[in-house]
Amino acid sequence: MDIGAGITTGTAELREATKMERIGVHSHITGLGLDDRLEPRPNSQGMVGQMRARKAAGVILRMLSPSSFSSSTVSAAPGLSGRAILLAGPPSTGKTAIARGMAATLGPDVPFTSITASEVYSLSMSKTEALTQALRRSIGVRIREEEEVVEGEVVEIVVERGITGSGKSGRVILKTTDMETVYEMGGKMIDEMTKEKVLAGDIISITKSSGRITKLGRSFSHSRDFSLLSPSTTFIPTPSGEILTRRTITHTVSLHEIDIINSRTQGFLALFAGDTGEVAAPLRAQIDVKVGEWREEGKAELVTGVLFIDEVHMLDMECFSFLNRALEGELAPLVVMASNRGVARIRGTEMRGPHGLPPDLLDRLLIVATSKYDAEEVRQIIKIRCQEEDVEVGPDAEDLLVEIAGDAGMRYALGLIAVSQIVARKRVKSSGGGSEAVEVEDLRRAYGCFMDPGRSVQWLKEQQGSLLVEEITVSENVRQ
Ligand code: ATP
Repeated sequence: MDIGAGITTGTAELREATKMERIGVHSHITGLGLDDRLEPRPNSQGMVGQMRARKAAGVILRMLSPSSFSSSTVSAAPGLSGRAILLAGPPSTGKTAIARGMAATLGPDVPFTSITASEVYSLSMSKTEALTQALRRSIGVRIREEEEVVEGEVVEIVVERGITGSGKSGRVILKTTDMETVYEMGGKMIDEMTKEKVLAGDIISITKSSGRITKLGRSFSHSRDFSLLSPSTTFIPTPSGEILTRRTITHTVSLHEIDIINSRTQGFLALFAGDTGEVAAPLRAQIDVKVGEWREEGKAELVTGVLFIDEVHMLDMECFSFLNRALEGELAPLVVMASNRGVARIRGTEMRGPHGLPPDLLDRLLIVATSKYDAEEVRQIIKIRCQEEDVEVGPDAEDLLVEIAGDAGMRYALGLIAVSQIVARKRVKSSGGGSEAVEVEDLRRAYGCFMDPGRSVQWLKEQQGSLLVEEITVSENVRQ
């Protein structure tokens, strides 16, 4: 009996499943797929169809930064702060995908925060605090600083791991012609630093104040700020290690990061833990004043970023009125919301409103509609996802997937890709060979194993009330 082989297969499948998770449902999207004139290409940067909505999203980004859209990334200016956009359309029509495309188009120092509305109902903080943090994460402060820099040729890098015994930390000794620098850091940082190609023979500069390393004399320059991660950095300049240059550098941090770093109760380590708790309102007011002073002194400028709120109809009336007021503040980002609801109940009230939103909020929104895909667009998206998930699908199975997407929804069809690959592998294994490409039969099996929403409703009807807690009818449940 070949027990070992069985175990190996299981583990391999498990690894595949883990890999799938890492791939993510939107990982194929690398931009909005627009040309320099903001015209959408039919199939570009992972985006297919939805031409008008993509163009509208591009126009919004152009308004954020009129000058720089023609490059591959844009850097936001405060022109659009306090505006709000609603992406509205049926499920699986790419609203979140478009928001991802917007994020990918923004430059690296333009904050983009993405939340799902239900995240604000957290036990650890009030709804309005959660929204405030999300808004302040989406405003950047670009700070200018002058720093002293030494330069030298890298003579040697010595990597020592497991200094603490855990194997997860260690140190890197970086010897240059002018100095020897010791970095205490986590294993991941060591990997990055060695992988990030600081090699013997490279010319690097090291900023004395922060420990930042920049590679010089190559077609690219790479900066890593080791200061937070290596508080024990020591500099041992040799006699010739003189300061060669002073230069001005810029860092972009979010208002939220400044809040937390200055919060006595939290401290900056909370930023790494992710659990920052509530921040006192007076502290935020002080920080706003301070940032205002830096701006007046020319030391800092504001960077308007984007806050994306998915499933915005899940917010309630209190949140909507809070958002309405927050959007009028001086420090407001561009807010992009998404909803797949028609006329629906406004949470926290007995009223109904378009997209589940109250009329006063709706009034200030620019609405961008997304619409259902035609079969060819669905096919293109399926192809992109198969490529992304590294799954080969035969032509007949691809036709069937397109059909399933039409009947049972695109998200369901996309979900079947990974499952049917596992089924295909099982088939190959049990028949002792053959192609692992997904065939119609594999897809049918996967389809049989997992219900789509329509079949699930049908099944519930057939159960005739045998499930627990059926206080409202199935049709009402689906509508809500
Ligand atoms: P919901 O209203 O249910 O939240 P949605 O409109 O936000 O849906 P998405 O989650 O963006 O829909 O799309 C579903 C899946 O289809 C995702 O994997 C997404 O990346 C992909 N997708 C949707 N539209 C496009 C598109 N135009 N180009 C490429 N991929 C797309």
